[in-house]
Formats: sequence, structure tokens, C-alpha cells
Amino acid sequence: MNYTTFEDFAISEEIVTALKALRYFKPTQVQQEVIPLTLKGKDIIVESQTGSGKTVSFGVPLCESVSWEENRPQALILVPTRELALQVKEDITNIGRLKRIKATAVFGKTSFDTQKSELRQKSHIVVGTPGRVLDHLQKGTMKFDKIRYLVLDEADEMLNMGFIEQVEAIIDFLPKQKQTLLFSATMPNEVVRLASFYMKNDRVSVKMESDEASKPKILQSFIRVQESGKPKQLLDLLTVENPDSCIIFCNTQEAVNGLYTFLSKAGLPIDKMHGGMVQDDRTAVMEDFRKGRLRYLVATDVAARGIDVDNVTHVVNYDVPEEKESFIHRTGRTGRAGKTGVALTLVTPSEERTWQGVKDFAQQEITEIDPPSARFVQHHKAAFEKKLQERPVIKRARNRELNKDITKVYFNGGKKKKLRAIDFVGTLTNIPGIDADDIGIITIQENVTYIEILNGKGHFVISEMQNRTVKGKALKVHKAKK
Ligand code: AMP
Repeated sequence: MNYTTFEDFAISEEIVTALKALRYFKPTQVQQEVIPLTLKGKDIIVESQTGSGKTVSFGVPLCESVSWEENRPQALILVPTRELALQVKEDITNIGRLKRIKATAVFGKTSFDTQKSELRQKSHIVVGTPGRVLDHLQKGTMKFDKIRYLVLDEADEMLNMGFIEQVEAIIDFLPKQKQTLLFSATMPNEVVRLASFYMKNDRVSVKMESDEASKPKILQSFIRVQESGKPKQLLDLLTVENPDSCIIFCNTQEAVNGLYTFLSKAGLPIDKMHGGMVQDDRTAVMEDFRKGRLRYLVATDVAARGIDVDNVTHVVNYDVPEEKESFIHRTGRTGRAGKTGVALTLVTPSEERTWQGVKDFAQQEITEIDPPSARFVQHHKAAFEKKLQERPVIKRARNRELNKDITKVYFNGGKKKKLRAIDFVGTLTNIPGIDADDIGIITIQENVTYIEILNGKGHFVISEMQNRTVKGKALKVHKAKK
């Protein structure tokens, strides 16, 4: 069977419509393989690079298969990093939006109690990092008896990061009758062992050969520099390159902090991200960078894995990564979706040996270039400074089209007032012109409730609700701020 469109998978119309609104028109190779096999109930091991469209390949069948009526989690997706958890949650939410699929992200360094209360409500699909997921399972704050799907995303990374014991402990909690999908860029022995231990005997292996067309196009070069002049050398390089969107990787949090201070003093629209920052700050920085409000990000490897930001034009390795694989992850943030990217690595004399190892491992053409001369830098300065003054171009969000008819509405009452989803649905569907299809995801917290109103009817609902009550209670109702 040839799958040239998403309709060919015979999936529900709501999902096909959402995919079109997200500007996904033609299934990628991995989607053509994985979606039908998953819908058939197979356990699958997928060897595929990030950037191949794998999130959609499991997101579509999961959103198709979970039952909206069942409130408890039916699918669990394990990922190695918190940023990836948020990203996958957003992708799933987008794909399942018109089916009103509720995805919940759980990960460390953020409030356990907030996640606990989210998990107590409708949560069809849970995306999380192993440590926090296990914590919820052990404390009984996440129900697992209805889980029918387990996805291990970036399995090799999860094992590299030492999550193996947690992953195994999580699997032991879950019902035996379930479907398991495992995605990994490489297949080291531990991943193979995990698969043979925990997946069905008739599992299917899918290996995506990366052909020339699907390989990221990255122009790789490196420059030999002295340790002492590094910040200035970098600034010279950035002046000459004048990137539109650039991630600079350092090996340590201290280096990130130092370089961030130096470059922000130089006037660059920049922020920083590393594991020592609180999660809310990390999330906010990522969002600013993703939207294009920041043109530069200086980060440790927490920003290297799986993160999908449109049009990152440049990646700079300010430090040579100590782990060889990290070089591939870092530079893979550019050159995505058919665009050509530029990757530059600064190499000091003390890093020479590590660099040789990285180069041998990467097996890519990496050209040595000379540091730009003072004259050359001067020549480019005016254009560089002009761009610093320009207002950033805000990147178009992929889900803009999908969300344009959706308004999130705030109600100042929740569980404490004993309000349940059914009370809100009853009130809203009593408004002439509003029916159940116009109501999206409902999130009830202790004191507040958020409801997505679909089909462009949000403002109408808000104005009607000024004179109506929910279960006899008059509530403040307005457009939600976030
Ligand atoms: P992933 O492998 O999940 O990290 O996805 C890589 C990139 O491909 C993401 O930017 C997706 O938005 C994009 N993508 C996924 N599926 C499709 C598709 N069918 N058509 C176009 N772009 C896609």
C-alpha cells in the first residue's frame, strides 16, 4: 500500500484536518512505515534520526486510538529531556486538538503538586522524563491501569543519560497487555536488550536509511583559536556571519554564564539556558528563542537534544563537546527541514585531541577556516550592527492556523466550588448556537477552570457568560491570559 496522503491511513477526519492546518500534507518516510503498523497493533522498533518526523509517526496513531471518554492515561511517552517532553506534549496536543485529546507533561524541577492535580483530571496521553514519571507511579498520583501504549522516544539517549533503571521500573508498573514503540537514532546493545526483554516476540524492526535528500545539510567548519582571546574571536565570527538565528553551545554552566554576560554587553539579543536554571525560566527562554524574539541562545547540552526550532541558521560550538555524540545533536539543530545550516567549532590547543575524536566520529566534511582578519570584521560591522537594531521577525507558529479559531476562556471557579466538566458543558451548550463540538479541552483546577472554545465562538461565549451562571454560581469569565 502506498501512503501518499494522510487520508490514505483511514484515520479520523479531525486528525487529517489538524495535520493539514499544521501544514503536514504528505507523510514522511518514517510516518508511512510506522503509522499503519501501529494502527495494526504491532510492537515496533524504529531506528531513525531525529528530524525524520517521528513524533508525528507515533502522535497520529496514539491520538487516533485513545478513547476520549476514558479519563485515565492510555498512553505513556518517555523522553530524555524536559524540553523534549514539552515539545512532544505540544505536538500531540496539536495533532489531537480537534479530537480534544488532553496531553499532560510531567518532568522534574517543576511543581509535583501541579502535575498531580493535572493527572487527576482527564489526561489521555502522558509525556514525561523517566525520573518524574516513576515518582508519580510510586506515589500513586498517576493511574496506570488503563495504559495501552508505551513509547520510548530517543531510547539511546535515555540510556546514555543513565535512565535505564527508571525505565525498567516504569515498565514493571504498566499493564502487560500493551503496545510498545521504541525510537532510537542508534541501536546499542542496551537498547536491543531492552527491546528483547520488554517487547512482544513478533515485534517489527523498521530501519530508516537516511538517503541524501533526507540528510541534514550543514556546512561544517572549524577554527583554531587561543583560549585567552576566545570571546572576542567569537564576536568577530558572529559579526562576519551575522546569523538570523544562532545557538552557541558551551560545555559548562559557568562558561554559558560568562559568555552570556560578554555577548549581552556587546548588544546581542541573547539569552541563556542551562540545567542550573529553574524550569520555568528554561521554558520561557526556549519559547522566546523558538518564536524568534531572541536571535541568539547560549546553552549547554540541555538545548542539544531533539529540540525543534524552525530556521536555526547557525550553530557554534564554543567548546568542543566532550561527548562525541553531542556534536551530532548540537549541530543537528540547524540544517533542518531541507534548509542549509552553518556549524562552526572553535578549537583551542588543549581541545585538539578531543576534537580529533569528534571529527573521526562525525564522518563529515569539516573544513578548517582562518579567523577573520580585523579588516574583514570591520567591513561587516555596519551590516551586523544594523541587524542588531532591527526588530525581530516573529516566527510563524506551526499551530497558528489550527489555533486561530480557538479561544481559551477563564472561569474563576473550579473544584473548590464543586464544579465538574459536565456542569460547564451543560451551561455552555445551553447557549443558543453552541454545541458540544464547539467545546475543546477543559482544565479544572482548584480555583479556576480553563475551557477552549472552538470554531471562532470564544468571544460570543464570553459575552453570553456575563449573564449566565454555572451550577447556580455567577463566575467571572474572560479570555485566558495564557
Ligand atoms: P521529528 O523527527 O519529530 O523531530 O520531526 C522533525 C520535523 O519535521 C518537525 O519540524 C516536524 O514539524 C516536521 N514534520 C513532521 N512530519 C512532517 C510532514 N509530514 N510534513 C512536513 N513536515 C513534517
